[in-house]
Amino acid sequence: MLQTLKTYFGYEQFRPLQEEIIQRIIDKKDALVLMPTGGGKSICYQLPALLLEGTAVIVSPLISLMKDQVESLRSNGIEAAALNSSNDETENANIRRACVDGKLKLLYISPERLLAEIDYLLRDMHISLFAIDEAHCISQWGHDFRPEYTQMGVLHQQFPKIPIIALTATADKITREDIIRQLHMDDPQIFISSFDRPNISLTVRRGHQAKEKNKSIGEFVRRHAGESGIIYCMSRNKTEAVAQMLQKQGIQCGVYHAGLSAQQRNETQDDFINDRIQIVCATIAFGMGIDKSNVRWVIHYNMPKSMESFYQEIGRAGRDGLPSDTILFYSLGDLILLTNFAKESGQQSSNLEKLQRMQQYAEADICRRRILLSYFGEISTKDCGNCDVCKNPPSRFDGTVIVQKALSAIVRTEQQIGTRALIDILRGSYSAEITGKGYQELKTFGVGRDIPPRDWHDYLLQMLHLGYFEIAYNENNHLKITESGKDILFGKGKATLVVIHREEPVAASKGKTKKKAIPKELPLGLPGTESEELFEALRGLRTSLAN
Ligand code: ADP
Ligand code: MG
Repeated sequence: MLQTLKTYFGYEQFRPLQEEIIQRIIDKKDALVLMPTGGGKSICYQLPALLLEGTAVIVSPLISLMKDQVESLRSNGIEAAALNSSNDETENANIRRACVDGKLKLLYISPERLLAEIDYLLRDMHISLFAIDEAHCISQWGHDFRPEYTQMGVLHQQFPKIPIIALTATADKITREDIIRQLHMDDPQIFISSFDRPNISLTVRRGHQAKEKNKSIGEFVRRHAGESGIIYCMSRNKTEAVAQMLQKQGIQCGVYHAGLSAQQRNETQDDFINDRIQIVCATIAFGMGIDKSNVRWVIHYNMPKSMESFYQEIGRAGRDGLPSDTILFYSLGDLILLTNFAKESGQQSSNLEKLQRMQQYAEADICRRRILLSYFGEISTKDCGNCDVCKNPPSRFDGTVIVQKALSAIVRTEQQIGTRALIDILRGSYSAEITGKGYQELKTFGVGRDIPPRDWHDYLLQMLHLGYFEIAYNENNHLKITESGKDILFGKGKATLVVIHREEPVAASKGKTKKKAIPKELPLGLPGTESEELFEALRGLRTSLAN
């Protein structure tokens, strides 16, 4: 085995698990392989393909993936071909003949093709093994669901003696079980290699608004001039907007999303792989099948909808093992949007749960790598030292007054506001909504002017996380105070907040802010008219809070 590895692939040794996996296939037994992107999954079926008699059939979801693999196999002197719709008739006819004549060691094929050929070409071939690459595409729970993959179960039914190896970088338990069940795998051995990528640094920046985010990204990109990086955005429009924003700052970058023509997309991808452009602003459509080792950074302009997506996307950085950086921007706005998406989706509870795990990661104040790895079932016993929490352990302070100010403002609007209006009230900013509803008359108007908006965003996230209020997603995302929020509001408990770390200070107030003295403390929780009045306001709201 080692000799074959050296002769055909030029590698000196196996990576962890490769040898065991290869042996399992040579023994004609089924295997499920979970290995991070760049971990070396291909060898796990390519090497058995060389050692076994017959032709290995590899199911692969992308033509570009097949092309790359076939080219590199051929350059190593291995007979391989891909059967797909990008070939012309003669090419496909030649490949078919080579298959029947047993001239190929590996045949790459799309799932659609495979289903079409199952009673014809496949019957006439001598098949050594089936490999299902990117096997998470089989699962609705996965993030690249491909309906054709769900029919791959026929392989085991029609060819029960031929071993099946399924490979993916998506390791979560539901997906794993789904793959095994749908492929009817026969007592498969599951191989899970470490998902740790210690060379990738992990940073989360919370509560930034668009302007600060853009500034911060511009600065980051300039600091990393000449390095390749990807900026992932939630929507097609955002990719265009972020690209424009960077271009305005004199930074060139490409755009990639499913709304562009195939030609445009290929061009951008090619330019990026060949270092003609350094940066791509992209949706999640960008990445699968990109084998580029020197991506130095990945920025998430918006929060991904699950840890799997997040891990896959940051995993595109640093495949050469050199230090690489990742930054996730996390805001309350994104959280609300994603929650609403999840609620509207078919698999509400599963999607919401995945989102909550992502949220916990973003809000964590313990080592982020431990959280990430534990999501994939790996328990690490020590902190990584290469995430923002490890580098900058959070310190806490008594934030009771801050929390009271926010909660009091919510109550005074009869809980009829979302975060934006709340911050406007706290900051004493006049917007259409504020003046339209007369909120400038509230006692709490401007009581939080000493705290910049982006810090308010952060504190509000913390308060949400601490359970002081909830977001009524079915009521215009209005904020509703909880029982424990009421306790803080009426001085029955203390609220501890995490100190916000900023790279650079921002001006505390500017623009349309009306100057007036900022009360250091609200006279809340004390006997007196103010809290009586608040109690009154709350009494009327009791019913809506109860449910
Ligand atoms: P995956 O499919 O898991 O994302 P690949 O199979 O494409 O990963 O392999 C990623 C990179 O690692 C490739 O450049 C491959 O040539 C290299 N590689 C795989 N196995 C070894 C090995 N044993 N020694 C050195 N490099 C390897
Ligand atoms: Mg692969």
